[in-house]
Amino acid sequence: MRKKIAAANWKMNLTWQQGNELVQSLLGATPSMQDTHQVILSVPFPYLASVSSMTKGTSGYQVAAQNCHHLAAGAYTGEVSAGMLASIGIPYCLVGHSERREYNGETNAVLADKLVRCIENSIRPIFCCGEPLAIRDQGQQNEYVARQLQESLFVLSAEQVGQAVIAYEPIWAIGTGRTASSEQAQAMHLHIRQVLEVHYGQQLAGQIPILYGGSVKASNADELFACPDVDGALVGGASLVASEFTAIVNALCKS
Ligand code: PEP
Repeated sequence: MRKKIAAANWKMNLTWQQGNELVQSLLGATPSMQDTHQVILSVPFPYLASVSSMTKGTSGYQVAAQNCHHLAAGAYTGEVSAGMLASIGIPYCLVGHSERREYNGETNAVLADKLVRCIENSIRPIFCCGEPLAIRDQGQQNEYVARQLQESLFVLSAEQVGQAVIAYEPIWAIGTGRTASSEQAQAMHLHIRQVLEVHYGQQLAGQIPILYGGSVKASNADELFACPDVDGALVGGASLVASEFTAIVNALCKS
């Protein structure tokens, strides 16, 4: 049985005071979770340790970093390694968010290295993939996403890939208010699972959670979570609003 996950991505938003209030509100409002369900808060580096300690006593809550460096250590001022995250007990890390691919020039090869750094440090990577609008308009999205998986994720062995979570985030739906329809999301999630199956076999492909990301909100969560291959969501804007994210977590827990 794969886990159902509601992952928040705060990006570069919120002061610590605002973030603290948001976490307190979520902890007070979200339902108690079974083993099968999880909330992951991807917060800015300076907040990781404190959000970890705030959520420690609440079952089902985990914390993620939004990035790590692709090398283990060295003279890279301003960067944070997977080993550093592991040393403060961070269990998850986003890898390959489309904003980092676009603004920081992260290539599939660099992302393959980041995945390896995460696994070496027992951090579960949340590997983000997804096509730009021009590729969707040409009907090439399946090939594009398969290539992202092949050139990055497939660096992991069968033993390692079981630690990963995948987030399918069509770039044209991120922060635009334009969600993929549940049919488009289901079709791509099934495609991703089939690509995984060819490389890793049916059992592993069936175990890896695949989250949908792109303008997920309280109003569309139920429909997306009803899709058989959608195992949850990676949520940007709506994760900054306690009532919205709580409703998304509620929808997940009902699914
Ligand atoms: C994201 O950035 O991962 C994301 C899905 O953002 P939004 O929910 O705002 O579209």
